[in-house]
Amino acid sequence: MGKKVPDARQIYADFYLLLSSCGFHYRCFVDFCRSLSLDAMASDMEHVREEIEDENRGPSFHCDLYDTEISHKIAQMLLPGLATACVDNTTGDIFRTPALVAVDLRKEFVEYLTQRSESFVAETTILEGDLAAEASDDPYEIIADFADDFATLKRNLFGRISGWLLSEKREDKIDDIVQEMELSKFWAIDRREAIARTLLKNVDFKGAFHCVMKFDTTEDLAEHVASCGFRSMICANEGCNTRFTAAHLEKHDLACPFKIIPCEQNCSESLMRREMDRHCITNCPMKVVKCPFYQVGCQSTVPQCTLKQHIHDSLRDHVLRVLQRSHKEASADDLKRQAEQLESFSSELASACDVKSLTMVLKDLEARLQQPEATMTTGLQSDAHTTTSNAEQTEVSSPAHINTDYQN
Ligand SMILES: [Zn+2]
Ligand SMILES: [Zn+2]
Ligand SMILES: [Zn+2]
Ligand SMILES: [Zn+2]
Repeated sequence: MGKKVPDARQIYADFYLLLSSCGFHYRCFVDFCRSLSLDAMASDMEHVREEIEDENRGPSFHCDLYDTEISHKIAQMLLPGLATACVDNTTGDIFRTPALVAVDLRKEFVEYLTQRSESFVAETTILEGDLAAEASDDPYEIIADFADDFATLKRNLFGRISGWLLSEKREDKIDDIVQEMELSKFWAIDRREAIARTLLKNVDFKGAFHCVMKFDTTEDLAEHVASCGFRSMICANEGCNTRFTAAHLEKHDLACPFKIIPCEQNCSESLMRREMDRHCITNCPMKVVKCPFYQVGCQSTVPQCTLKQHIHDSLRDHVLRVLQRSHKEASADDLKRQAEQLESFSSELASACDVKSLTMVLKDLEARLQQPEATMTTGLQSDAHTTTSNAEQTEVSSPAHINTDYQN
């Protein structure tokens, strides 16, 4: 290469090689030179390229895989992009309708987008500082901006009135045209996809959305394609048919609604991500619930699988709270003593798991405790006391004593 390329052009040759090794298109540089009226420089570059390519073709098998998701998104956007230009170009015009200009504008639109995408790299490389930082890396956004620029260029006098641009009528009209174009297959999706792919490759000079690998043999290429980050994949999670670019596997997997994941509340279950929210607020054993004695003042919140344990562990506290509610005028000490004594009826009390049933059990126990006391107070106290063990005595007589207090 060195001997054929004149010294004066060596710099172009090096620059060309640099551009192509980074996946840039030399055309961008040529267009950039032309845009600055440096025609001589542009044609020098073209000559140098021809010489280099004749002499040294380099690896000639390109991997042409690309990010199909984003190219599809771009292809989708082309239709409303064109419809907007058609509407703004003919609004208020009694002789021309959007449908009438659609064919011509479509041709112009494609040419415009292609040209803008080809000179995009050169335009971006001369941006510095803040402007460069502001420039988007997202091919969809870049091409959507080109489409907006095209519609702006095509606006007629009426279309330039700001009221029209913001009006709902305009939005409706654009939607109608898009629908018409879709129904009449005016611009088929596969043709738009092909254009989108070219535009994508032109603006994605960093190779983030398309593959820039080249190979010497078809065998090498085939080997690469099997593991290329841009090959298309279908999600392996059962029930999910999402197709994505291999490089996005992790991103999809982290959000796939069909992915089986362990419960977010750390119960022992694993389930589909899309069922997680419902599980966590319904049958998850780790769902946090209020103590059923909340209304009598127990502030505890516990995982529902440990609720029974809490009710068991807090029996005395719950009993006391229920007693406090039904015997408002009794002293705190008396109620405390009564609650302690009622603990010997733990099997009856344990069956009561909420305020209502515990209140009923307590009423029942109080009634039973009151009976022997009633007979005792009729006279045979000493006999009763001497025949009863100490333990039984406190259990039986004290609650009865409290009960008589309440009645006063
Ligand atoms: Zn590849
Ligand atoms: Zn999936
Ligand atoms: Zn769970
Ligand atoms: Zn409680």
